[in-house]
Amino acid sequence: MLSVRSLNAGYGKFHVIFDVDFDVGRREILVVVGPNGSGKSTMLKTLFGLTRIYSGKIVLDGRDITRLPTYMRARLGMAFVPQTDNVFAELTVGENLKMASYGLKPELAEDRVREVLEVFPFLKEKLGVKAKSLSGGQRQLLAMAMALIRRPKLFILDEPTAGLAPKAAKEVVEKILWLRDELGKSMVWAEQNAKLALENGDKALLMVSGRVAFNGSAAELLADQELGKRYLGLKR
Ligand code: ADP
Repeated sequence: MLSVRSLNAGYGKFHVIFDVDFDVGRREILVVVGPNGSGKSTMLKTLFGLTRIYSGKIVLDGRDITRLPTYMRARLGMAFVPQTDNVFAELTVGENLKMASYGLKPELAEDRVREVLEVFPFLKEKLGVKAKSLSGGQRQLLAMAMALIRRPKLFILDEPTAGLAPKAAKEVVEKILWLRDELGKSMVWAEQNAKLALENGDKALLMVSGRVAFNGSAAELLADQELGKRYLGLKR
């Protein structure tokens, strides 16, 4: 579904990611792990057209999207859930969902809101509550619900469990797996908690200083003592 080749990107003249290659299939989770500052977030933003691309190629469902603006990428089925500021804190849950369906025909928008409320039922009781009063985990789930309203095929998730207690992180991960298994969604999921990511992802990309240090199965990287110890703080 998504194929990235020899990608070089950064901010202005500041080159951050170098010669990155990877593929993500339908119904597949690619986790992006690596030390702080290794370019994970920049990689995700590049997929969504938010950085400067110097060279290389991004292909989505056979279509070259390398030079397309962000709104076109969204229209073609990508949804980006940033790490922070991913909901409108001062608006209610209901208003947030309405914002997420902005531009859809009114009946369709209502259908889509109903649809995501079935996927995230706890939001039904929170419709009148301001997003800033939700717990961290609930806010993350709201951000995912807002992304789901457009029925994307590919979710780009930037550290969805950052700052969450283990129980809340587990709920977020369960939802990610559910979206893959039940709705057939694909994910590019950057994660600081390498163990959590590698235990749940299908494939893994290890980034170190903006370059790919490993590209293969998540289980294989989890089992790699050398890389795990050197770059991911994993010990056994
Ligand atoms: P990670 O997500 O792995 O922690 P980032 O992609 O956030 O890494 O950062 C990679 C590098 O890009 C760092 O050197 C960081 O300082 C730089 N960087 C991140 N965001 C910006 C930005 N908006 N403008 C310029 N440099 C940035």
